[in-house]
Amino acid sequence: MEMRGSETTILVVDDDSALQRLLAKWLENAGYRVRTAGSGRAAIEEIEADCPGILITDWEMPDIDGLELCRWIRGREMPRYIYSYLLTMRTGTTDIVKGLEAGADDFLKKPVDRNELLARMRSGTRVLDLETRLNESARRDSLTGLLTQRAFFDSFRQEWKRATRYGSPVSCVILDIDHFKRINDEHGHLVGDRAIRGTASWLMRNTRSSDVVSRFGGDEFCVLLAEATEAQAVQWAERARASLEESSASFTNEHVPFTASFGIAQRMDDTPAPDRLVDMADQAMLVAKQAGRNRVLGYQGLFGLEIRSPASTPTRLMKNVLARDAMTPVVAGLSADSPIGNAAEYLLNLRMSSAPVVDDASNLVGTLSEKGVLEALLADHGSGRTVRDVMSSNVVWYDELTPLLTIYEFLGRVSLRSVVIVRDRRPVGVISRGVILRWCINTLMSAGHASPSPPESGGSDRDAPGSPSAVEFAMDRTADAIVSEAARIRNSLRDESRTSVPCVIGGASRLQELISDLLGAVHSLQGIGDGSIERRSLSTTVMVDAMG
Ligand code: GH3
Ligand code: MG
Repeated sequence: MEMRGSETTILVVDDDSALQRLLAKWLENAGYRVRTAGSGRAAIEEIEADCPGILITDWEMPDIDGLELCRWIRGREMPRYIYSYLLTMRTGTTDIVKGLEAGADDFLKKPVDRNELLARMRSGTRVLDLETRLNESARRDSLTGLLTQRAFFDSFRQEWKRATRYGSPVSCVILDIDHFKRINDEHGHLVGDRAIRGTASWLMRNTRSSDVVSRFGGDEFCVLLAEATEAQAVQWAERARASLEESSASFTNEHVPFTASFGIAQRMDDTPAPDRLVDMADQAMLVAKQAGRNRVLGYQGLFGLEIRSPASTPTRLMKNVLARDAMTPVVAGLSADSPIGNAAEYLLNLRMSSAPVVDDASNLVGTLSEKGVLEALLADHGSGRTVRDVMSSNVVWYDELTPLLTIYEFLGRVSLRSVVIVRDRRPVGVISRGVILRWCINTLMSAGHASPSPPESGGSDRDAPGSPSAVEFAMDRTADAIVSEAARIRNSLRDESRTSVPCVIGGASRLQELISDLLGAVHSLQGIGDGSIERRSLSTTVMVDAMG
């Protein structure tokens, strides 16, 4: 970009108003924008109000002179480089050294010659032009030419101010290539690089000039969509996702196809800052990955408006504990083809707010929530609808060997209620915050740190938390619950008027939980009290069609 005279603002500082006017006139005629100041102090005010590109200052001035003004400028962090000229009759070496050391870039001899003045301004603007280009290239990622993360946030802060002032919507999209490591591993880094570059230029082609497109690092990109609500951004991302899936193979000579996962969040009145909006989009992207990749998820659509701060980490308690040690086992996944009415009964019996849904091969295909069932029943009594019609296929699942801590942290960051635990793609359990709480209480109790809810009578110190009588009381209560649960199952088996399967499944699940509790308490009585006891999953889970 060639810097034209008119794009550079020159501040002329001289207490000699005749010379000041003359210089201003020559420069204006040459196309520069000119401002003037009659003293060093006035110049500082001008610079603070709006930073010029070039400064021409007289050396000798009362109060703050040209040297001091140059020193003041160099001592401060300016929004841009100010190319500075000292106007002087002094031409001796010592004076020149003094001027340069104070921070001047060049000198203009008095009396000033018009042609020399303009020639020196042209050389100054060339330096400024170079500086602008260097700055710009520092804002760009070298592989793709997109804005860097830092430059993205600079632009975002401007857009944020604008959006706040005018109350206009703005949405953030985080996009991360799926299984990108495989491309590197199977085809080499160069092909990986081409895939990243291809994605970058594809993004540029698929956004408007008012959108801000950046590479956040690795295979992750962030796009700011100005004037877009979350719903509009989701629409854009849906189209983009499909187009990427279709065209990605053409990005590399080797024709390696790939997909990406998208997370989206819209700025709300209570979104505190740009980085929080990016964080929200990132969370949605994380859930999209966890839910199977190659999909688009919006933050509001997923979590409502709740923003959570990351939970603190109880590392000691959860050390070496795996998902399967803490999960609530599910005896059977809900068949996707079950009628809604049966599904409702299943959920009620399971006493869970949501349950994993499986296909014919017992593979996980979705989750069914109480909310979904209720809406279907209220709409048209669920007539003719199956679980598949109302389930959510964005199911977040973790392998049973995942550390419990990972799941705890995930549930702490997002507002999702629960995740499904799988073994070979088949659901074997569920973990919710409630399940983790239950696990914590059992573990702490077995380590003698917590008591079950206190006995109704008595208050002697024998009943102190963790003491044998408190634990024994809890075991007693748990044993009672096991007996009545077993009785319920037996009664349902004898009741020939209705199908007993849902009741048996729910009851068996509940029995497993109760037996878990009982074992936790036994550990406590045996004095295995370091809080890190091994908890084996009690389930020998059999996948059957819940209703079949
Ligand atoms: P996921 O679907 O969970 O995102 O899996 P993934 O394999 O894509 O995992 P992740 O996003 O964590 O992997 C990013 C990888 O990208 C890790 C790193 O080796 C690689 N990478 C980062 N920068 C570059 C780059 O400039 N060029 C190439 N070729 N690879 C890069
Ligand atoms: Mg990735």
